[in-house]
Amino acid sequence: MTEADPAKTPALRLQGVRKNYGQVVAVAGVDLVVDEGEFFTLLGPSGSGKTTLLRLIAGFERPDAGRIELGGRDVTSVPPHLRDTNTVFQDYALFPHMSVADNIGYGLRVKGVAKPARERRVQRALQMVRLEGLGLRRPNQLSGGQRQRVALARAVVNEPEVLLLDEPLGALDLKLRQEMQIELKQIQKDVGITFVYVTHDQEEALTMSDRLAVLANGQIEQIGSPVDVYERPATEFVAGFIGISNVLTRDGVRFVVRPEKIRMLAEGEEADPGMTVELGRVEEVIYVGMNTRYVVHLDRGEQLVAVRQNMDALGDAQKFEGRPVRLAWTPDHTFVLE
Ligand code: ADP
Ligand code: MG
Repeated sequence: MTEADPAKTPALRLQGVRKNYGQVVAVAGVDLVVDEGEFFTLLGPSGSGKTTLLRLIAGFERPDAGRIELGGRDVTSVPPHLRDTNTVFQDYALFPHMSVADNIGYGLRVKGVAKPARERRVQRALQMVRLEGLGLRRPNQLSGGQRQRVALARAVVNEPEVLLLDEPLGALDLKLRQEMQIELKQIQKDVGITFVYVTHDQEEALTMSDRLAVLANGQIEQIGSPVDVYERPATEFVAGFIGISNVLTRDGVRFVVRPEKIRMLAEGEEADPGMTVELGRVEEVIYVGMNTRYVVHLDRGEQLVAVRQNMDALGDAQKFEGRPVRLAWTPDHTFVLE
């Protein structure tokens, strides 16, 4: 899915949205369409305008220019509580004195949903985030990952049209974060709510998203599926931000070849017909557990990183350091930068 479906009313549409803070241009004219039920990610480095964009969608900020639509309705001037959105922040502050169930049901109580219906919906939400039986606990009796799921349940229980999530896994350690990425994606599929998810973590974005927008300096560099942005990055920024970019220039054309597409030929090994072969010298060997990275200085002056899986686990890759090598790749696996 590379583009939003033009036949359907999108869950979210931004047109020419801009936001300045004094001299700082936080969001510099963003156009965006998100389909109903999509898991859509805003990916970019710190300061690229992700949080500001999310706050504009939620209505906590008013744009200086542009238009914001939710479900086909212009909400540009509509205050946050009258928009069909909910937001989950990184520091998902739960009410410490309330039980888990009361935390989750809080929004429904404020809306005046009657107790029996409220309890039913809270139970369903607890099931959804796999916290059944923990409804009576206090937040401080839960692990970090469990608290994060309570925050999610608290937002999802309101059944918003669009759920906005600002680096919700940022406070968790790597292993838990990776588990939660998979759980969160599953929950999103189950409930079918449109997610607009903010992260600076490229692997997280590639793992979870149906589509993503890569942001830099308040502007969108590229929108596409994870495969689109990884295999066919539109700009050098995208190529470098998502993965190791390996930019080379030949006959004035700049192109990229990803490390995993490069073969290091063994001594005497012939490249396949049609492959490009470059001579160089291994400058550095970096062992990273699952694989080893080889930083190679090409004889013609540029530098490439090649990567090999540690299939034979001998741990003797260091012996390549300083040695001459031949690198080979298929031209089909390169892409030209604009
Ligand atoms: P991100 O979430 O991608 O890290 P932000 O949206 O928080 O980026 O910030 C984008 C830019 O706007 C940054 O340069 C930031 O310093 C600036 N900015 C954000 N909020 C404010 C604010 N309330 N006042 C002044 N500048 C702000
Ligand atoms: Mg932010």
